[in-house]
Amino acid sequence: MKVSVVKCNSYKGRELREALEKSLENLGFSFKKNMKVLIKPNILSPHPPETAITTNPLVIEELCKILKKYNADIYIGESSSYETKKGFEVSGIGKLEKYAKIINFETQDKQLFKFKGIKEVPLPKIIFEMDLIINVAKLKTHLFTGATLCVKNLYGCIPGMAKSYYHKVLPSLEGFSKFLLELHEKIKPGLNIIDGVVGLEGMGPGLSGKPIKSNLIIAGNNAIAADIIGSEIMGFKPDSIYTNRFSGMQRDEIEVVGQRYSLNFKKPPMSLFFKSPIFNSLEKLFPKSKIVFDYDKCKKCHLCEKKCPVQAIKLGPFPKCNYQECIRCVCCIEVCPQKAIVLKEHWTKTYARAIVRKVFKS
Ligand code: SF4
Ligand code: SF4
Repeated sequence: MKVSVVKCNSYKGRELREALEKSLENLGFSFKKNMKVLIKPNILSPHPPETAITTNPLVIEELCKILKKYNADIYIGESSSYETKKGFEVSGIGKLEKYAKIINFETQDKQLFKFKGIKEVPLPKIIFEMDLIINVAKLKTHLFTGATLCVKNLYGCIPGMAKSYYHKVLPSLEGFSKFLLELHEKIKPGLNIIDGVVGLEGMGPGLSGKPIKSNLIIAGNNAIAADIIGSEIMGFKPDSIYTNRFSGMQRDEIEVVGQRYSLNFKKPPMSLFFKSPIFNSLEKLFPKSKIVFDYDKCKKCHLCEKKCPVQAIKLGPFPKCNYQECIRCVCCIEVCPQKAIVLKEHWTKTYARAIVRKVFKS
């Protein structure tokens, strides 16, 4: 299985176009004529391109230009964490109407799918009417899953608030990651591209993360293979990202074509640094991390309250978290437009992690 890694220093049209064409060449991928193609970007929430939270619209634009040469009928579809319509506008991806039909997955007809332990998962029917799905993710860290790349990007195919519901019924990282893998199995994007020209490090995937110039485009026919290489480049051990780990795919099954890259993204402080099942079970012995609000920054917009899948946040007038109810899904941090929420872990856990990292050089 091949994954292409191509240097791309800027979002300038020509450079991007060449990087995308080189990626396709590295993969031996060619488009057929007259295909119906759906592009799935990452528009997590309504943020402009310079925040590096969303796929840069210029990557999508250059991809559309290539597809137009093959007379493709192009759709760009997404369901953001909130306010999808605004997400399309603010990210700049909504402006690509001249190339593609812009689809808000929330307003589409749904088809119900059975997942392990879950009877009905709604997915937009239109996804299954396509000849090709192109998944265009962003190179980002994620407080809950470690990294959010191609497999996790498909979570935005689930329309609207249903996304919060699956956090509620699958609160563990393992359960949630296995759900994402099942979702990937249903959607099976035929081409996966990671916009890593500027990535997001630290407390991603939202405003608490920091843009980092990483100068590359990663591409693969298989989303899991692209994620394994993407996470490795970010400086993760690939199997510390649970969608990689539970996919069963091994690093040595993947051939990297193109540049060799090794970056060191700042990682979010989360359990994944406890890399073995033994350390993971030890983690349960520590006091749980807490959601903490900065009331000087909070504008009482209620977004965190609305987004919390277990109704653990109540505003009165400022937000408060019920720690007994909280499942640490970090959805509230992801959506807060004021960077007013952090996940604070107990000092004992911070020290324990530092020791584990030192001993195991992870
Ligand atoms: S989302 Fe942020 S700004 Fe809005 S109420 Fe919650 S903490 Fe305050
Ligand atoms: S308070 Fe935040 S982290 Fe806790 S369950 Fe609600 S959204 Fe998730």
